[in-house]
Amino acid sequence: MEITARRLGEALPGLTIESVMTPGLNVLKTFDPPLHHADGGTFAGVRRKGKLLLLDIETGAGEPLTFLTHLMSAGRLQWFDKRGSMKDRTSRVLWRLPEGRELRLREFGTRQAAWIKLLRPDAVDADEQLRTLGPEAWPDAPDLGALLKSNRPLHSLLRDQQVIAGIGRTWVDEILHAARLSPFKRGDDLSEEEAAALREAMVSELGRVIDHCEAAVQVPLPEKFPKPTRVHAHQGEPCPRCGTTLEAVFYEDYVMSYCPQCQTEGRVLKDRRLSRLLK
Ligand SMILES: [Zn+2]
Repeated sequence: MEITARRLGEALPGLTIESVMTPGLNVLKTFDPPLHHADGGTFAGVRRKGKLLLLDIETGAGEPLTFLTHLMSAGRLQWFDKRGSMKDRTSRVLWRLPEGRELRLREFGTRQAAWIKLLRPDAVDADEQLRTLGPEAWPDAPDLGALLKSNRPLHSLLRDQQVIAGIGRTWVDEILHAARLSPFKRGDDLSEEEAAALREAMVSELGRVIDHCEAAVQVPLPEKFPKPTRVHAHQGEPCPRCGTTLEAVFYEDYVMSYCPQCQTEGRVLKDRRLSRLLK
């Protein structure tokens, strides 16, 4: 999201919106102001908060409005020099721009989960999702000692956007591996040194990913962003630090990978997929 925000922040400001269309069913979560209030507006800037993207516009009527967007797991914002076919079934939102260009929110897969809201400034301030976001994990992560005081395991705690904003499933594995912490360690059980190591790993791992994408990703923005992972989904391969075979716990729709040597004192954690089969 950081790189999407940066690239769109370079490309969009100053461009006029000719019209906005929402081929996605129920993708627009607000009705006041109506969508056509954005027609004729000019992009003023792009901001990221956690995993949310804010596209700020100035309307012809002098009314500042914001498109608040959550791409969820399968949504992408992409820039096109030509307008898309209305038959493109991945299209959720089309922002039509001058000279036939188009900013398009597309979503891959069968679920329609990505959404946008069109908000006035006071509604941006009052928005529940924005208001309840925890502090940003990057670039300046907060002190984690007090923040993570909870009996929940780290792998769930760190992905909770209300605890700390901006970490997804992929990068939580990389961060915990870099910090040499078990994904099942409880937030409560972190020592001061461990909390400091976790904070450092958070800043350095997210920084590594962002640097990688900064160099690799350009407008029109790819369908698939590069994922410079070392641990996540690398189960069965050697740990990049110690060479032990990486293990994983499989959940319904994602996988959590870790190194038993570096992170769990040699313990191989229960594979939930396997235990379900054995029931
Ligand atoms: Zn290892």
